[in-house]
Amino acid sequence: MPAATKNIYKKLIKLTFSAMLILCLTACSFSGPFGAENGAEKLSKTDFVLDTVSTVTLYGAGDEALLERCFQLCREYELIFSRTDSRSELYALNHSGGMAVSDELLELITLARDYAELSHGAFDFTLGAVSEMYGFSSDSPRAPSDAELAAAMEHTGWEKVSIDGNIVTLIDPGAVLDLGAIAKGYIADRVAELLLENGVDSAIINLGGNVLCLGSRPDGEDFTVGLQYPFEDVSRTIANIRVRDMSVVTSGVYQRCFEQDGVFYHHILDPVTGRPCENGLLAVSVVSPRSADCDALSTVCFVLGLEDGLELVDSLEDVYAVFITEDYGLHYSKGFEDALF
Ligand code: ADP
Ligand code: MG
Repeated sequence: MPAATKNIYKKLIKLTFSAMLILCLTACSFSGPFGAENGAEKLSKTDFVLDTVSTVTLYGAGDEALLERCFQLCREYELIFSRTDSRSELYALNHSGGMAVSDELLELITLARDYAELSHGAFDFTLGAVSEMYGFSSDSPRAPSDAELAAAMEHTGWEKVSIDGNIVTLIDPGAVLDLGAIAKGYIADRVAELLLENGVDSAIINLGGNVLCLGSRPDGEDFTVGLQYPFEDVSRTIANIRVRDMSVVTSGVYQRCFEQDGVFYHHILDPVTGRPCENGLLAVSVVSPRSADCDALSTVCFVLGLEDGLELVDSLEDVYAVFITEDYGLHYSKGFEDALF
């Protein structure tokens, strides 16, 4: 690895923690004093949920109690979808090999399976045993040996999961489901529903960079969402886009990563090798109305790579994407610039 690249990687490792903590995308827009913007009241709360720092900002309606309910909802979903929390429903499923699951877990596993099918396995929600070995979110991440990796890869493959009514069965009992590439998007959609039911029609839900803009700014303008400049401080953006009633989600190599023996490891895995994808991409941001779709597709597109990823996005309605390559080039899907700048 060239020394300059190595230095960048060293720097990014230092930055990663703070970047993860705040945003991978900055739902910036505009800020005014005393919680009021353009005459509209603004109410905001930030908390650590879903293994990341999340912020919900309401404009013009809602109260502290509603904000608190948003975070409570996130915590409830965390107790369903977390791979690591031993109290979660997914944990129970992973350790039982098969069981009747809740409607929510069924819905998310079904959606994950749809994206696995759509992407011909690029999206693989059975990589849990592999992710676990790397421990990207832990204090001591490490790269598994070839032998460890080969053993874990024996138990991956999205077709090893069967769904019958609300009974989910791991056909290979050694398979470990991991919904980390789609859960935050799904949860953001549920938070948006909660807000709409309670009369809020202008808000930003930011679950660790998984951003959903509900409605428009209180002054009727589009929200501005800044896409983070890879490896730089979150406040530095590489592009700013204009959205309303849209979600923006990024999968980037700099979000969860570490260096070992001079090698850079990141958390988006190639389902064929179990190693981090190495395809010349630094990040993919996807924009679409539903946050679950954005979340899944940002991972899908990253794994597919620039060419196949763009082709997939161009074939989908109401989905836009920008790919950032290692040379910091920006590659937009069809219509992106017209719709979002
Ligand atoms: P983030 O976790 O930062 O939101 P992503 O949405 O891109 O980022 O999801 C990456 C996470 O998804 C990883 O941390 C891992 O748990 C899981 N994952 C890694 N590779 C894949 C893959 N090929 N398909 C599905 N999930 C994956
Ligand atoms: Mg994702």
